[in-house]
Amino acid sequence: MMGDLLKPILSSAEFKLGSQLCIVFFVVFTFALIFWTWRDADRRGAMPWFWAVVVAIFNVLGWMIYLVVRPPEYADDARERELEIRSKEAELARDGATCPSCLKSVEPDYLICPYCMKKLKKECATCGRALKMSWAVCPYCKTKQQPPQATATETPAAPVPPKG
Ligand SMILES: [Zn+2]
Ligand SMILES: [Zn+2]
Repeated sequence: MMGDLLKPILSSAEFKLGSQLCIVFFVVFTFALIFWTWRDADRRGAMPWFWAVVVAIFNVLGWMIYLVVRPPEYADDARERELEIRSKEAELARDGATCPSCLKSVEPDYLICPYCMKKLKKECATCGRALKMSWAVCPYCKTKQQPPQATATETPAAPVPPKG
């Protein structure tokens, strides 16, 4: 009964085209999966050719086995990435995008944090532009800058000599 109903569908040109497309998609998908596994295993130093063959034979099942047994990322990679994130954070802080004191976002040309009143930048005496505290000279008008002055909030209290 069902076979009789399906026969015209199965023999139709649309169905043949559709199944051929499915096969093409499956082949492309399989090759992509093999390539991904080979590259990932190569990066982790885990027998890339062996795993490529396993995925070629068992397809998605082999790929899932690889995902389970593959070695974790190298410790070096993880540490490198952490360092990268750290330096990015430091860069953001240096650019004045974040107040180093209260961590609220501020504009890069703010001289003072509007939230906690922390001094962020100094103003050039000649052209009035916002300069980084560490800059020795104004890059816009070449005016020499005072060395960064220690403010009351930034300098820790001088150590009191013990009474003897
Ligand atoms: Zn602040
Ligand atoms: Zn200037």
